[in-house]
Amino acid sequence: MINKTFIAATDFFGMILRSCYLDFKLRSLQDLRLVFYHGIGDGNSPSMRYLSDEISESLFIRHLDYLQEHYTILSIEEAVLKIKEPIREKPICSISFDDGLRSVFLKAYPHLKRKKIPFTIFINSPVVNNKKILWTHLLSYFIFHYTEKPIKEYCSIEANVDIFEWFRSNFSIVQREKIIGKLAQKFKENPKVIAQNEGLYLENGDMEKMLDFATFYSHTNNHVPLGCLSTEQIIKEIEHNLPKNFISFPFGMKTDYGLNAHQIALSNGHQYVVEVGNGINDPSEVKAKSLLSRVSLGSCKFSNMYSAIELRPLLKHKLQKLKPKMENFRFKAL
Ligand SMILES: [Zn+2]
Repeated sequence: MINKTFIAATDFFGMILRSCYLDFKLRSLQDLRLVFYHGIGDGNSPSMRYLSDEISESLFIRHLDYLQEHYTILSIEEAVLKIKEPIREKPICSISFDDGLRSVFLKAYPHLKRKKIPFTIFINSPVVNNKKILWTHLLSYFIFHYTEKPIKEYCSIEANVDIFEWFRSNFSIVQREKIIGKLAQKFKENPKVIAQNEGLYLENGDMEKMLDFATFYSHTNNHVPLGCLSTEQIIKEIEHNLPKNFISFPFGMKTDYGLNAHQIALSNGHQYVVEVGNGINDPSEVKAKSLLSRVSLGSCKFSNMYSAIELRPLLKHKLQKLKPKMENFRFKAL
């Protein structure tokens, strides 16, 4: 409720500032803005229907136009290198996509290539080539085909509880996989066949074709909130063959991954942890903390771009400084 009010109030205030041409006066040009998406589409496929993870292609193009007008868009590698350079004419922004979805190749890449915009995709290696399906997408698929009722009954989840939130906050990786497996048995479904049929994720050939503008880093292996795992399990989750310059944690908020996971990633050779946070990347803090904060634009209306990228990050940053408990402010980001 507080979240919704905060978002509505900042969207409204942002529109007023924009109409008075006061919008970009409020920020430091040196601060880096990292924005991210998941997939591109209508959000109606069984695996995406209950996740709010897709933005329409037409709105995505408008987002790109806005970002190009107001920012210098750089790759995440270049953005981090240039963060300490003298004040620029336009602030720097970098675009990334989580979950390694194929719709990025099919519907985002053509526009990014045409506009010569570099970008990053954070992938879960085991699902590349649709060899597996992530539990979030499988759960959406089950709800789509069998409704929430039998799942909630099977797991003894109360009717008013958000099913994804329940899975996200209640279970370790082993228990969650076990329950998802049992649900598959109950519905007589084979997750591997669903993965192949849904074709949600990138294939090797797609990734090769995008190398002219894209870089690939890890989003961990099984997409579970790392905060509920043991040190050994976290190490296993972040093991992969991708470059270790950046790693994006699933769900991406400190409350989901915990400080322990951040430290473990750094001591296992990862250079920067990418989170979903207040969105402020102060040059003096980025390198010291090896932490980059992103804002989600996946469900952002065009009219609210300024408040999502600038106004809310600024206010959240100020509020968190005033009251450390604001770290626990939840902004949905899968
Ligand atoms: Zn994710």
